[in-house]
Amino acid sequence: LSDNLSTRRNSTGLDLNDPQETAALLAKLGALKNRQWAAGPIVSGAVTGRGRLAITNPADHTDIVGHVWDATSADLDRALDAAVSNYAAWDAQGAEARAAVLERAADALEAGRERFLSLLVREAGKTVDDALAECREAVDFCRYYAQQARCRFGAAHLLPGPTGEQNLYSLHGRGAFVCISPWNFPLAIFLGQVTAALAAGNAVLAKPAEQTPLIAAEAIELLHRAGVPYDVLHLLPGTGEMVGAALVADERIAGAALTGSTATAKLIAKTLAARRGAIIPLIAETGGQNAMFVDSTALPEQVVDDVVRSAFHSAGQRCSALRVLYLQDEVADGIIEMLTGAMDELSVGDPGLLSTDVGPVIDEPARKALLAHVEALQAEGRLLHVSRLGEACARGTFVAPHLFEIDSIRRLEQEHFGPLLHVVRFRLRDLEKHLAQLRATGFGLTLGVHTRIEAMSRRIFDASMAGNVYVNRNMIGAVVGVQPFGGHGLSGTGPKAGGPLYLPRFAAERVLSVNT
Ligand code: NAP
Repeated sequence: LSDNLSTRRNSTGLDLNDPQETAALLAKLGALKNRQWAAGPIVSGAVTGRGRLAITNPADHTDIVGHVWDATSADLDRALDAAVSNYAAWDAQGAEARAAVLERAADALEAGRERFLSLLVREAGKTVDDALAECREAVDFCRYYAQQARCRFGAAHLLPGPTGEQNLYSLHGRGAFVCISPWNFPLAIFLGQVTAALAAGNAVLAKPAEQTPLIAAEAIELLHRAGVPYDVLHLLPGTGEMVGAALVADERIAGAALTGSTATAKLIAKTLAARRGAIIPLIAETGGQNAMFVDSTALPEQVVDDVVRSAFHSAGQRCSALRVLYLQDEVADGIIEMLTGAMDELSVGDPGLLSTDVGPVIDEPARKALLAHVEALQAEGRLLHVSRLGEACARGTFVAPHLFEIDSIRRLEQEHFGPLLHVVRFRLRDLEKHLAQLRATGFGLTLGVHTRIEAMSRRIFDASMAGNVYVNRNMIGAVVGVQPFGGHGLSGTGPKAGGPLYLPRFAAERVLSVNT
């Protein structure tokens, strides 16, 4: 695991506590405030159509951010043919050349981050703070996968063998790789998948989420400018039902990566199994039913700070976000009281303001689904508290942070992807029962523990199947190369993004055995 990683440094981003840096940033974002963006399919470097469908700002539906043109079946066909014909030449360029291209892209992204920040705020409704963190993560993915490519995809590795025999192990691109991404990290996850597939020597067909194609188009153009050959990287915007489904059903593809819901992952797995052609890998990173356990030894102020950050910031639209907070009976009332106080302090509104803590949810269907859950729990008398919406919220799709009390995680049949937090009280003697119920959900993405007893955090870690467990801190914002991220069971197939085993999953392994 220690592939000489000490030479790589994660991006430092900007310091929002520095008034000069902040003023300069806000001036640049202000200059882009009314910009109209346009995106369309990018096939072999040519944009085949622009405009048509309007993309609106989720925080303000009167703000049209730009227009997108969806890919047609002819676009898909040409992109697939080009990818299949050209991946081998890209693979043959070698890991060093591919890594250099990705590092150039990382440098350009860092230097020109304002365009991406502006789009993250306007197209995806991210707060400035979240947008900065996402840009940093995207830069880190490019540099991390570049370094991983050098370590693993460079020269063939000589394996031990009997005298007179030479065994060489090497990793290669597989062919045309489909990368399908979600709207909640439209830059970092989008670029993470794409750069991993490229670093491993594949050609890529990228299908962004239908809500966030504009930022995806900027990212693809950035990669092309950095030196990824046009015929090796194609952007195919459109819906999952049309473009995504057609791509994964095509027998020309050699692999698929999805980050999205568990239901979509299962649908794609079914399509891949039924299609003609080779058996190919699916890398699926999916949802979670993430819990945090707080025992009576925990530091209440720290708990409240970490809970608010994990459950409500980013409007709860992180796959890692906290959904179920287990509070030990003895401290539950005190923590709930502090938590409701902290919820009253949250500023919900325009994500472009530095003072905003919670921005909008992505669109009206998302808002409706969340409010249906709120209504159901409210009718059962389970609402403990709700934050206030700011005045500007009427212009967009906002959902106020809500706190509910439920008796068991079994009451939640699915992931509720927004700022809704459920509290479950537990007695220490019932801890095993609650851990078993958590495991029984089938999800295993993130888990938090707040305790000052080491044996307690170990016990909870051992009893859970979460891929990322955080003790005495918040449970979001995994750092590339530091906290490789991803889950198990209904939360995904692995390997972990930003971790040492990610790239090889995009590759074909080969062994050359020569009798010398
Ligand atoms: P989603 O509805 O599953 O969509 C994800 C992507 O799949 C979108 O590009 C979507 O296209 C596409 N898609 C939908 N149906 C498809 C089909 N039949 N064939 C091929 N592609 C298809 O998920 P989302 O709402 O965008 O994202 C939120 C989910 O992602 C949550 O469950 C969250 O937990 C999960 N997530 C997981 C991670 C992780 O690392 N584990 C990270 C981020 C998010 P459309 O544009 O048409 O929707």
